[in-house]
Amino acid sequence: MSSVATGKHAIVIGAGIIGVCTANALLDKGFTVDVFDPAAPGSPDQCSYGNAGGICPGSCLPNAMPGLLKNVPEWLLDPQGPLFIRLSYLPHALPWLMRFVLAGRKSRVEKISQAMNDLHRLSYEAYEPLMAEAGCLDLLQKRGQLFVFEDRKGPEGSAYGVRLRRSHGVKVETLSARDIQDLEPALSAQFKSALYLPDQGQCPNPGRLVEKLAELAQRKGATFHREPVNGFMYEMGEASGVITPSGNHAADRIVLAAGAWSGDLARQLGDRIPFETERGYHVMLPQADTGLKIQTISADRKFVASPMEAGLRLAGTVEFAGLKEPPNYARADSLVHLAQGMFKRFEPSEVHRWMGHRPGTPDSIPVIDTAKRHARVTYAFGHGHQGLIGGAVTGRIVADMSAGLRPAIDLSPFRLDRFGLRNL
Ligand SMILES: Cc1cc2nc3c(=O)[nH]c(=O)nc-3n(C[C@H](O)[C@H](O)[C@H](O)COP(=O)(O)OP(=O)(O)OC[C@H]3O[C@@H](n4cnc5c(N)ncnc54)[C@H](O)[C@@H]3O)c2cc1C
Repeated sequence: MSSVATGKHAIVIGAGIIGVCTANALLDKGFTVDVFDPAAPGSPDQCSYGNAGGICPGSCLPNAMPGLLKNVPEWLLDPQGPLFIRLSYLPHALPWLMRFVLAGRKSRVEKISQAMNDLHRLSYEAYEPLMAEAGCLDLLQKRGQLFVFEDRKGPEGSAYGVRLRRSHGVKVETLSARDIQDLEPALSAQFKSALYLPDQGQCPNPGRLVEKLAELAQRKGATFHREPVNGFMYEMGEASGVITPSGNHAADRIVLAAGAWSGDLARQLGDRIPFETERGYHVMLPQADTGLKIQTISADRKFVASPMEAGLRLAGTVEFAGLKEPPNYARADSLVHLAQGMFKRFEPSEVHRWMGHRPGTPDSIPVIDTAKRHARVTYAFGHGHQGLIGGAVTGRIVADMSAGLRPAIDLSPFRLDRFGLRNL
């Protein structure tokens, strides 16, 4: 690759779902594109490989919701609880956690919810043409999403979230135990009530989706380089390219989409962003044979059961332990334990475990903005628990920004300056 930038040449750092969607959108706007990533697109090293597969236009509730704090002590004490903080990591995570708590105030939640809705409601509209072009429309299944409760009055505890969703026009239906059986007979009689969101969708193989979109980008002319970006080249103090083990690579535009690894690279550019890896786990059960069709979330036990091409995937949990600590697969195994009793048929004989790094901001929405001091660099990271949903829309937004066009949504909630102390 030439080290001299000419015309519309873009470098994308990271080939997860955000990187490959962005690469495609930039190509569609006439850019030539080089993508750098030491991992292969769609490989297990990426968070985009192992997620629960939800592509949910109606996902507009942040993780920090009013009242959440009172559950935290109980969760932390329960070894199978949905949240775990490695004690040695607590001092590191504390500032982020404090911001997370502040993001859960009602006034903030309503603004964040609006931003999430703006980004996510366009997810089908952005994915469908891309998947059609990549020949993988089978990877979007619009079967809705179920939140199931073991108590008849379960949905009452979610009333605020339901109101918030409905205020954005998201359809939410309340189901009785009998309705649940009619809709999803694979579930056991354990569930007495449910919320059903009929317009949500699911990808039955998120890794294959990333792979297919990378192949599409390649067909349209992108070059993928299996190496990391270690730093940036500068011209008159402004980032003008990237440095990799193979050399220096100049570019007109640089997009930082390195998921949970983006924080260090942004820091090199002078932007300190409150950013954590929210480690999550899944187990794949290829022989589970539950017959489940609809992605189902256990609202009480806080995990997701997703029917995948390769079997049943149980996914969830948030663990704060940084990027370097090895996985604690006991957390993955606890998902199998939590799922006992959930289905009429359940055969967990073969279990494949996985851990991935969610790129987490404290307010549950990504950073989509130009670097403070480097006009050529666009940030597109921090999609947390919803990067699959937001991938294709983010790609379009970044391509519009790069081409000097007005993006389809108001980007002010996604800006870097929201983390300033004034905005806490
Ligand atoms: C258990 C679990 C369940 C989830 N369920 C859902 C769900 O149902 N729906 C949903 O929308 N989201 C879900 N998510 C979140 C979603 O998976 C992430 O938000 C999304 O994958 C983030 O994509 P990304 O491209 O930013 O990061 P990644 O997919 O992690 O990609 C980042 C890439 O950057 C590369 N990289 C790192 N450092 C460098 C460097 N220096 N130079 C070059 N490249 C670099 C990495 O190798 C990696 O390939 C879930 C996550 C988990 C863990």
